[in-house]
Amino acid sequence: MIIIKQAPSLKNYLNKQREKGKICGFVPTMGALHPGHLSLVNRSKKETDITIVSIFLNPLQFNSQTDLEQYPQTIEKDILLLSEIETDVLFLPDRQEMYPDNSISEKVYDLAGVDTTFEGRFRPGHFQGVCHAVNRLLDIVEPDKLYLGQKDYQQIMVIKKLVKQIGSPVEVIPVSTKREAGGLAMSSRNLRLSADEKRRASEIYKQLMYIKTNRSGRSFGDMKDKAIARLTAAGIDVEYLELAQAEDLKPLADFIEESPMVLIIAAYVGEVRLIDNLLL
Ligand code: AMP
Repeated sequence: MIIIKQAPSLKNYLNKQREKGKICGFVPTMGALHPGHLSLVNRSKKETDITIVSIFLNPLQFNSQTDLEQYPQTIEKDILLLSEIETDVLFLPDRQEMYPDNSISEKVYDLAGVDTTFEGRFRPGHFQGVCHAVNRLLDIVEPDKLYLGQKDYQQIMVIKKLVKQIGSPVEVIPVSTKREAGGLAMSSRNLRLSADEKRRASEIYKQLMYIKTNRSGRSFGDMKDKAIARLTAAGIDVEYLELAQAEDLKPLADFIEESPMVLIIAAYVGEVRLIDNLLL
């Protein structure tokens, strides 16, 4: 695995690969890697010739300084994991490389409202921050395929809008969520959970599954109340639990049978904010 820290060096290297007709797959991450991230890398390795992974803890997408400071960082282990699965290139830019001379553009991305519901409502500016980083990374890497986890369902919608807006030809490829044995979605933030919190956090997936499997003939409002009551009893503080159209994340008041839906949740387990979703 080659580790590259400078954008021009990476561009140079990738241009040479493209001249040889190589197809490039890209997996952007913020590090503290786990098997969920690695499943994206493995998918890219199967479908492309060169897989580039980036690790950059993007300050622009954190709306709380404490959250940024407490975000797990395990760079040495990350490098080991990525080289073990034979990642081709690790791009490790610093802040100056990502946002030269602090030149974070004044640009506001028009995300057609998909950035203001759910996560966008509770984390104002978060998706604009994601777009600044992903836009810059796409400019540098110019991948053919971009691998994103369905764990961050709304982020995929946002990045699809971004890709359209900037006219990038990249193909966005969603990859299913990797979970722990008990159902908890793998997340870098899980490293901050105690053993007891981690056990309790699996209730999030259980309640999503409860709604999915028992919804026939029931109203979403009723099931949501029951799910929140059970989560609260497990010591989990639900920020939102909502239902939306899977295609465009338009909020739904109740189940509709005509088209795919998605349940989407954010909740605190102790001080750690977790998100998850489940397609219906
Ligand atoms: P992050 O480092 O959290 O920004 O995540 C980098 C990429 O990995 C994003 O596309 C995430 O959606 C994806 N990802 C995170 N957790 C999982 C998971 N449990 N399963 C699959 N993909 C994931």
